[in-house]
Amino acid sequence: MADDCIFCKIGSGEIPSEKLHEDGAVFVIADISPQAPVHLLVIPFEHLASAAEVGEHNAALMRNMTLMANRAARAAGVAESGYRLVMNTGAEGGQSVGHLHMHVLGGRQLSGQMG
Ligand code: AMP
Ligand code: ZN
Repeated sequence: MADDCIFCKIGSGEIPSEKLHEDGAVFVIADISPQAPVHLLVIPFEHLASAAEVGEHNAALMRNMTLMANRAARAAGVAESGYRLVMNTGAEGGQSVGHLHMHVLGGRQLSGQMG
């Protein structure tokens, strides 16, 4: 738990937010400012600042995040139509919350522009 980390606080329940899915390692919430009809966030309970901090010892967590993203996409009805998994990393990567998370975007044709 990092001080003043909004995703740590949501994970612990200190800030209430509906968890659409969860397992022992990660949870899923709807993005508060959706950029697509489906915009979910897959977030580990454990605090890691970004994907840049992921090391060999986090291999199981990364597997878990990907499987959870796929599960959330299936539940949201976009598994067949397609979706985009995004991990913004660092300032120029566009990361605004300093706790590792994966965006699940779908429900419309997404732009071919990646940045
Ligand atoms: P990023 O810019 O990649 O760090 O993504 C952070 C995302 O978290 C943004 O899309 C925000 O809209 C979203 N966000 C910030 N605060 C909350 C919150 N309290 N509940 C849900 N989503 C949030
Ligand atoms: Zn955190």
